[in-house]
Amino acid sequence: MNNYDVVVIGSGIAGITAAIYLKRASINVALIDMNAPGGQLLNIKAIENYPGFKEITGPDLAWQLYEQVTKLDIPFYTEEVIDIKDGENKVVTTTKSVFNCFGIILATGRAMRTLGLPNEANYRGKGLSFCATCDGALYKDKTVCILGTEKEDIDYLLGVCKEVIILNPTLECEYKNNKQIRVINQAKIEKLEGQSKLESIVVNGEKINTSALFINLDSVPSISFIKDIPIKKDKGYIVVNDKMETNIKGIYACGDIIKKDLYQLVTAASEGAIAATNLRKEIKRGCNEMK
Ligand SMILES: Cc1cc2nc3c(=O)[nH]c(=O)nc-3n(C[C@H](O)[C@H](O)[C@H](O)COP(=O)(O)OP(=O)(O)OC[C@H]3O[C@@H](n4cnc5c(N)ncnc54)[C@H](O)[C@@H]3O)c2cc1C
Repeated sequence: MNNYDVVVIGSGIAGITAAIYLKRASINVALIDMNAPGGQLLNIKAIENYPGFKEITGPDLAWQLYEQVTKLDIPFYTEEVIDIKDGENKVVTTTKSVFNCFGIILATGRAMRTLGLPNEANYRGKGLSFCATCDGALYKDKTVCILGTEKEDIDYLLGVCKEVIILNPTLECEYKNNKQIRVINQAKIEKLEGQSKLESIVVNGEKINTSALFINLDSVPSISFIKDIPIKKDKGYIVVNDKMETNIKGIYACGDIIKKDLYQLVTAASEGAIAATNLRKEIKRGCNEMK
């Protein structure tokens, strides 16, 4: 059994930030991730909206974060968490071991829903994007397509792009055709085409020239390991208060796993810091009560 004050599950930017804040405050913390550190960062070709970097690749930022983890000697376990249990002490079970701790920070993010087309991976970061707020500005004054009808993302694209083609998977769409908008209902993407980057797509048998395709389908929060704990959720996302506390004492959550308005690196990092700071205070309060 491994004993820690806090176990942080997930080593994306939210989890790593939380671990850095805890360790620097002398809290005995461990970080667990089933994959390499960085989470979604490992899929991002270019980041242009993270303060302090004019442009940086996701893997480069992930590496810098991991260097902070190693410099601070934060124990990092490459293991998949399969269960957590509540109680006076909390128990985190992975495929390899068991962790006993006072508090848990959940930072396991969410999984993207993809198109399932064979050549999809070739166009990632080369016209194919999963984030309009992150990449929309790269296509200023261009024609772009968006699969899905999420208003916030469509409005963002309408603010920067010349033409937005809305590929609506269903029959109803609140947007109507006009000079800047074209709506294709019951849209089914059949092909992605282009030499070194995305140049066109085939939708319902029609070839459409486009500079980008934004996939805006619902993502799925990664919470399958939370089985027995009645943690409060909204559409699968974990509900937290402004301290990043869940409804279960001693369990905090941050980053893409929580219900919120803006799913970005800067918000995930900020929530990691808030979760860590409030859990640290809870631990100190607990220690004082025992004296
Ligand atoms: C293609 C793309 C481009 C983006 N571009 C930008 C951008 O330019 N700017 C911007 O601000 N934001 C961007 N974003 C959004 C940003 O990447 C996310 O908001 C952010 O990375 C979320 O961080 P996180 O730490 O919450 O989760 P994640 O980064 O998803 O990390 C979660 C971690 O939890 C681990 N995990 C999951 N389940 C388990 C388990 N059971 N056991 C152990 N480990 C587990 C995963 O392996 C993963 O490492 C982009 C997102 C995508 C998909």
